Amino acid sequence: MTDVRVRIAPSPTGDPHVGTIYISLFNLAFAKKYNGKFILRIEDTDQTRSHPTFEKNIFEALKWANIHWDEGPDIGGTFGPYRQSERLSIYKKYAEKLVEEKKAYRCFATKEELNEMRQVAKTTGTPSGYDRRYRNLSDAEIQKRLDEKQSYVIRLKVPLTGECVFEDAIKGTITTPLADIDDQVLLKSDGFPTYHLANIVDDHLMKITHVIRGDEWISSTPKHILLYEAFSWDKPTFMHMPLLLGKDGKKLSKRKNPTSTFYFKETGYLSDALTNFLTLMGYSSKDEKEIYSFDDFVKNFDPTRIGTSGAFFDIQKLDWLNQQYIINTLSEKDLLDRLKKWQFNDDFFKKLIPLCHTRMKTFMEFMELFDFMFINHLNYTDELFTVKQTAKNEAIIILYAMMLLLEKQDMLKAENIEKTSHEIADLFKIHHKKIVMPLLYATIMGKKFGPPLFKSCEILKKDRVRARFLNAIEFLGSISNKKINEIKKQLEKKDLSMFIKQKD
Ligand code: GLU
Repeated sequence: MTDVRVRIAPSPTGDPHVGTIYISLFNLAFAKKYNGKFILRIEDTDQTRSHPTFEKNIFEALKWANIHWDEGPDIGGTFGPYRQSERLSIYKKYAEKLVEEKKAYRCFATKEELNEMRQVAKTTGTPSGYDRRYRNLSDAEIQKRLDEKQSYVIRLKVPLTGECVFEDAIKGTITTPLADIDDQVLLKSDGFPTYHLANIVDDHLMKITHVIRGDEWISSTPKHILLYEAFSWDKPTFMHMPLLLGKDGKKLSKRKNPTSTFYFKETGYLSDALTNFLTLMGYSSKDEKEIYSFDDFVKNFDPTRIGTSGAFFDIQKLDWLNQQYIINTLSEKDLLDRLKKWQFNDDFFKKLIPLCHTRMKTFMEFMELFDFMFINHLNYTDELFTVKQTAKNEAIIILYAMMLLLEKQDMLKAENIEKTSHEIADLFKIHHKKIVMPLLYATIMGKKFGPPLFKSCEILKKDRVRARFLNAIEFLGSISNKKINEIKKQLEKKDLSMFIKQKD
């Protein structure tokens, strides 16, 4: 094999997902197995969603999971820069090269035109929204529009007939009719590349030999193959890993399950247990052993044993594994040290002190006040959630809407959470103090009263707060995707009152 080079290419657009750790572990194992290099590239070309804090969180999460890279934005390397926002001129150059070679073209479609095309496609049932109207403009017509400074994107000229066939090293032969592939945009009107262009230009320039990524990208791969062909570049080997699935059999989603690596760190999982667990996902070792170190995993790693179908993210299994690690890898002294490092330390307690200073008659009451800070599974009861005349299904909707609004805040700050809770009361036209607050106390603390709620949420941080909303919703029943979409729609209209029968 030529020098193996693999990469992960996360986008810094949200909490560091456990899926990134999962994919990293397989890339890292592959690199180690074949004495190759493991590269970290940050794909931050989505300017509206990317944020340096999210990038920092990706580094932190990977390091916590003991994943280290040979080249990356923080340490550099021969093929840098490794942050796509620093490589814009490169993508532009390659997109223009394809235009010159008539393998791509400038498309001047306006927003209105695109909307119109989408409507037409909907009524005629054609899969592609874009009708390729700018594909065959004459040079004079193009020049005229350029002189008029009309804005344009660059699109790939996808062959109109035939098939795109590629061999996925895990899934086998994948065939896609070319008629199903749009003339994809490569360069946007603001000069930023799309994911497809930047991703393959970088994989080529960074000499990536194997693209090991999640199954959700397999539908993009035919587009990538077409690009490699347009540039006449050698293609890497593609390996699409089984998706991590939630209990419902759907892709693990933060709207339904904890997905942030920090959630697992903050609720007291050991990183070795989590990484062991993640390597079990979508992979079966020859000897069916389930507990092993990462070094052992690498030693025995056989990529042909990667599964082809989704991998259930079974929290109970993770809990079991974590316990095995606590028993077998930590001495009593280690356990004490780890507990201190986790939450029994001055830093954490200093945050709690202002919240209890005036609220306890004896020191013993400290624990009564703050039990919920140290417990993952709260003792929810029906009585706790029986708040005025609010029915269970109404409580679910109120909590879900609150969770959606909190989701928009990168870091939970007490005053913003408080504002959001008032907003919820206004949106549903319900009493803040008599309905919203008791529901929140029940959800976050598993009790009717406690220390200041909003400060407590800030201390618990977003991942644990989100998990509590999800747990409370699960306790109360469940919520359908249809209902979720209705809530989202009504949130845009800023009126959720129709979900509540009994107003206050
Ligand atoms: N930026 C993509 C992501 O967020 C990269 C996908 C790939 O590995 O090609 O995961």
